[in-house]
Amino acid sequence: MGRRKLVVGNWKMNGLRAQLGAAYAIDAIATQHPDAEVGLCIPATLLSEAKAGVKAIFIGAQDCHMNENGAHTGCLSAAMVKEAGASWVIVGHSERRGDQHESSADVAAKALAARAAGLKVILCLGESLETRDSGKASEFVLGQLSDSLPDGASADWLSIAYEPIWAIGTGRIPTMEQIAEIHGDIRGALRQALGAEQADAMRLLYGGSVNAANAREIFALEDVDGGLVGGASLKADSFGPIIEAAA
Ligand code: PEP
Repeated sequence: MGRRKLVVGNWKMNGLRAQLGAAYAIDAIATQHPDAEVGLCIPATLLSEAKAGVKAIFIGAQDCHMNENGAHTGCLSAAMVKEAGASWVIVGHSERRGDQHESSADVAAKALAARAAGLKVILCLGESLETRDSGKASEFVLGQLSDSLPDGASADWLSIAYEPIWAIGTGRIPTMEQIAEIHGDIRGALRQALGAEQADAMRLLYGGSVNAANAREIFALEDVDGGLVGGASLKADSFGPIIEAAA
């Protein structure tokens, strides 16, 4: 369908200024692989300095608030992270849905706020191991999609990341058949919700223990348009091969 592969690192709560060298080394690798779009979603404290130091990759944030401003101690608005250097933002990561009790309605509102501020958005979905074992993974993920999809969703600013919670940071990944099946189901649901043209243009990322050894096989699946990568994105040595696999 001509979808450009998208590979995004999520540094989570990792990274002081001393780690920016890794972002610059990743940027240097991405420069050699323009076929893939590459970004790093880093701590908000590093956005500004990282943005000034990179050429090929985009810099993103890991969350934003759904309101434009107000009495929300410790939170950052979409406009704030944009002004600091982010051009993308992750919303609905399972760690935020879990740790911060964010609902799918919150996630949809955050995506809309990000869009209004001019940010591109990665919206995360994913089931627990219990849900997977009960045979209801697809049903659960499609329910999350329907409840989190913002009004006016379109492929030019929104991408979806399927991240089974039990695969995040565990070294355990679903089978290729399981990934292909759920990505196909997500694409099908997007066709119903947005029409074929938008659904076929929207990038669907897989996330959960992507590494140099498994990236090529995962990215070759028909409805997988790249990856959202946690642990392996912290160093150029481990993220570089994933960028190469995508390119
Ligand atoms: C993530 O949390 O977005 C993620 C995919 O983490 P990891 O690659 O470490 O499993």
